[in-house]
Amino acid sequence: MEESIREKLHIPQDLLEAELKPFVKRIDEGSYYAKDFLKKIGKTDLLSSSTRSQVEALRIGMTLVEEISKVCMTTAFCLWCHLAALTYVRHTSNQPLKNKFLPLLESGEILAGTGLSNPMKYYAGLEKLHLKAQPVEEGVILSGTLPAVSNLGHDHWFGVIAKVDDDKEIMCFVPCYAEGLSLKEKLDYLGVNGSATYACTFHDVFVPTECILSENAAEFVKQIRPFFIAYQIPLGLGIVQESIDSIVKTSKRQNGCNRYLKKQANELQTQLQEIRQRLETILISEELNWQEFAELRLDTVYLTLEAVQASMLHHGSAGYMKDSAPSRRLREAYFFANLTPTVKHLEKVLQ
Ligand SMILES: Cc1cc2nc3c(=O)[nH]c(=O)nc-3n(C[C@H](O)[C@H](O)[C@H](O)COP(=O)(O)OP(=O)(O)OC[C@H]3O[C@@H](n4cnc5c(N)ncnc54)[C@H](O)[C@@H]3O)c2cc1C
Repeated sequence: MEESIREKLHIPQDLLEAELKPFVKRIDEGSYYAKDFLKKIGKTDLLSSSTRSQVEALRIGMTLVEEISKVCMTTAFCLWCHLAALTYVRHTSNQPLKNKFLPLLESGEILAGTGLSNPMKYYAGLEKLHLKAQPVEEGVILSGTLPAVSNLGHDHWFGVIAKVDDDKEIMCFVPCYAEGLSLKEKLDYLGVNGSATYACTFHDVFVPTECILSENAAEFVKQIRPFFIAYQIPLGLGIVQESIDSIVKTSKRQNGCNRYLKKQANELQTQLQEIRQRLETILISEELNWQEFAELRLDTVYLTLEAVQASMLHHGSAGYMKDSAPSRRLREAYFFANLTPTVKHLEKVLQ
């Protein structure tokens, strides 16, 4: 992200220091979800779009994700979930829904997530849709299971897509407290366990018409996809920058022996700079193109994996401690690679 944008942004460093840094180990262990921190981000006005252009709001969101990712990618991922849900509400043509939820989401009063991995894989021809929607008077009834949805809690909401029939899918906005919806917390992942991730089973959940984001999900996904992918890119950028900085810090250890390692900080920094420049080119172009973002997202994953691996090698056994920052970033980076669109998914759609 351009330095001038970063300066203008006034990223709340005090909030990162006081409300996130002290909790990173507990977040990594899975015993803490940074809900209060996320709500406070909403209170800063940085998520607001009313006085900003679409691209300005996107840039600010991306910069926030990156700054948070430098401290804790798990929490940056939670913010991504919220930004994805915000994107759905910003783009819906259901005006009453937008009028009601946009201020609540942008101020952090309500936190939200996204259950769109399966639909994204469905539209890329990877798998069938997991949710079904049966139209009824004044709404639809949803059934099926989503194996993992993050940034959830009793009072949170999330976006889902369900199949109505062979030619139609709809997109809904659902509260976690909906009758018939059961949530089972998932904590056994290699990393990102403090992401409030749940398996969500819909047993005939009624969703009223007021909560339908789109009657034509296939078309709606085309509108939101560039934002969905763009907001993910800084998850990797933050980790790469932190890995580079951590490599620099170890350079004097053991009489500077790390300089013999093949991957060095300056090479990673050049690769990172290249990605930032490509991002800037996309952001100043007239139309936001999802494929350009997807290419950049893929290259960011590969760079992230290289950076976290290099950081592990530079740190030696100190990095091999379970709770060390390099090992946390290594585990978080593998999640970034397996977050939809995953590496294999991106490689397929970019053929
Ligand atoms: C921590 C975490 C948080 C996530 N949060 C969200 C979210 O907020 N929203 C969302 O929509 N998606 C979420 N996902 C899903 C994520 O975005 C990707 O879709 C998923 O990780 C991609 O995995 P995959 O492509 O291997 O497909 P998967 O759907 O995981 O599986 C591909 C194949 O592997 C099989 N498989 C899956 N798990 C196992 C297992 N444990 N053992 C054996 N076989 C298995 C499946 O049956 C399938 O055949 C989350 C995933 C994780 C790990």
